[in-house]
Amino acid sequence: MARIIINQDGCKGCEMCVNACPRHIIALDKEKINAKGYHPAKLLDEEKCTGCCSCAMMCPDCMIVVER
Ligand code: SF4
Ligand code: SF4
Repeated sequence: MARIIINQDGCKGCEMCVNACPRHIIALDKEKINAKGYHPAKLLDEEKCTGCCSCAMMCPDCMIVVER
């Protein structure tokens, strides 16, 4: 099963990954604010991740790693 690891400390909340995910399983975590002052991205449902890497490719700061 694939899963992604998001470096939430480095995330700038740009939502590029949110919009890139074909399974719609990434969202900004509105309950969390990182040291940079942003709501960081989080994975909502690991079970649905296909490991397609779209999110990782879209992140401008390379904050997402996909493990397969
Ligand atoms: S690897 Fe693909 S399916 Fe999984 S969270 Fe990223 S964009 Fe979505
Ligand atoms: S694309 Fe990268 S910086 Fe932007 S919200 Fe997603 S993880 Fe954060």
